[in-house]
Amino acid sequence: MGLAVYNTLTGKKEEVIPVEEGKIRLYTCGPTVYDYAHIGNLRTYIFEDVLKKSLKYLGYEVRHVMNITDVGHLESDADAGEDKMARGALREKKTVWEIARFYEEAFLDDCRLLNIEKPTVICRATEHINEMIEFISLLEKKGFTYSANGNIYFSIDKFPDYNNLARLSMEELRAGSRVEIDINKKNPLDFVLWFTNSKFSNQIMQWESPWGKGFPGWHIECSAMSVKYLGERIDIHCGGVDHIPVHHTNEIAQSESGLGHKWVNYWIHGEFLVMDNEKISKSKGDFLTVAKLIEKGYSALDFRYFCLQSRYRKQLAFNFDSLEDARKSLKRLRGRVRNIAESRNENETIDTVELKAYKDKFINQISDDLNLPNAFSVLSEVIRDGKLNNSEKLYLIEDFDRVMSLELSTETEIKSSIDSHWIEQLVEERNQARKEKNWARADEIRNLLLEQDIEIVDSKEGSTWRYR
Ligand code: AMP
Ligand code: ZN
Repeated sequence: MGLAVYNTLTGKKEEVIPVEEGKIRLYTCGPTVYDYAHIGNLRTYIFEDVLKKSLKYLGYEVRHVMNITDVGHLESDADAGEDKMARGALREKKTVWEIARFYEEAFLDDCRLLNIEKPTVICRATEHINEMIEFISLLEKKGFTYSANGNIYFSIDKFPDYNNLARLSMEELRAGSRVEIDINKKNPLDFVLWFTNSKFSNQIMQWESPWGKGFPGWHIECSAMSVKYLGERIDIHCGGVDHIPVHHTNEIAQSESGLGHKWVNYWIHGEFLVMDNEKISKSKGDFLTVAKLIEKGYSALDFRYFCLQSRYRKQLAFNFDSLEDARKSLKRLRGRVRNIAESRNENETIDTVELKAYKDKFINQISDDLNLPNAFSVLSEVIRDGKLNNSEKLYLIEDFDRVMSLELSTETEIKSSIDSHWIEQLVEERNQARKEKNWARADEIRNLLLEQDIEIVDSKEGSTWRYR
C-alpha cells in the first residue's frame, strides 16, 4: 500500500497514485519574503518536509518545486491593500530588492536549522515574469480575462468549477475578498493577473508587458512556474489551510483554464499553529521566529519535535510550556539513543528480517495520512524491545530519522557535519550587517551560530569563527 493522504479536493483520504510510476511531482507554495518567517509558517514547511521525506522513505523519487514570492503579493490575498514587499522596504529603509534577498536568505537559514530539505527547484517570481506574461496571454487568447482600468482580471464566471476545492458558500468565499471593494471587478471574486501603473504610482518592481508596464498579480506565479518546472500534471500541491479559499482556488482556475485539463491530483493542506487561540500573523508585528526561540534557549529541532507530536490536520496551540516539554522529551530520547549506541558490541549482527516487522509498522503509520505521533510510538517500542540487539535498534532509529530528521543518533557528530560554506556565508552576511549598523541581524547571526556551538571572533580585520 502506498501513502494515503487527506485530499482537500475530494474531501477524502486517498492513496497517492502518481501520474508517472515511482515518481512524485510536488509543488509547495513558498514564502512571501518581506519579513522573517514566523513559527506558524514554519510549521507548514515542516509538515511539507515530512510529507516529502515519507514519500522518499516509501521509495518514490520526488521532484519538489517551491516558489519565492518577491513581487505581487498584496496585503489581502484577494488583491486588496498595500504591497507587502513595498511595506517591508519602507519599514527598513531598504530597496524592495534588498528586502527580498535578505528575507529569502533568512528563510533558507531557518529551513537549514529545522532540517527542512531544500526543494529540487527554488524559483523566484521576479525571475519568471516572461513565463507569467505568456500564461496570461494564453488565458487572454482563450477568453478568460478582461481588462478594466488598466488591470487584467481573471473572470471566474468563465470557470464553472471555481468552487470545487473550497466547497464554500458564495458568502464565505466572498469573505476572503472583503477588505477593499474593487469596482472594476465584474464579480467580486475575480482576481488580478496583471496590474499596471494604475494600482500603485510608486511601484518600483515593474516590467514591460502587452498590457502596459506593471507587475503580476500574486496567484499567477505558482501556475506559470509549476508548469515550467513540473509539467502540466502535478501529483501533489501543498500549503497552509488559509490558501484553500483564495490562492489555491485561483491557482486552479487559471491553470486548468489555460491548460484545458485537470492540473493537480492531490491537494494537501496543513492546519495552523495558533497562539492564545489566535492566528499568528506577520502583520501584527511582534511574532515568534526561530531566532527568537533560539534566544530563549531552545533549538530549532526542539520546535520541529514539538510540531511532529501532533497531526498536521489539527490546529496546534503553541506556548512555551509545551515547547519546554518537547525540549525535555527530545533530550530524553537522545539520551536513550546515546545509551544504545554506547552499549553496542562488535559481535552484534543485524537481522534485516527481524527488522522488517518494525519497518512495516513505521510505514503503516506514516502512510496513514502522516501519523507521526504513532510513528514515535513505534520508535519507543523499538527502544524498549527486549529481543533486538543494540545495533539493530540503532539501525532502525537512524532509518526512521530519515523522516523525522531530529538527528537522533548524530548529536555528537553534528559539529563536523555542519556545512562550512553555510558558516562562511553567515559570517560574511554578519560583517555586512555590522557595516550597515544592522545590529539586530548581526546579533541574530551570532546567536544562530552559537546554537550550533560556533563562536564568532571579532577583530579589527573582520570576523572569523571557531568551534566552542
Ligand atoms: P506566506 O509567507 O504568508 O505566504 O505563508 C507561508 C506559508 O505559511 C503558507 O503555506 C501559509 O499557508 C502558511 N501559514 C501562514 N500562517 C500560518 C500559521 N499560523 N500556521 C501554519 N501555517 C501558516
Ligand atoms: Zn502558490
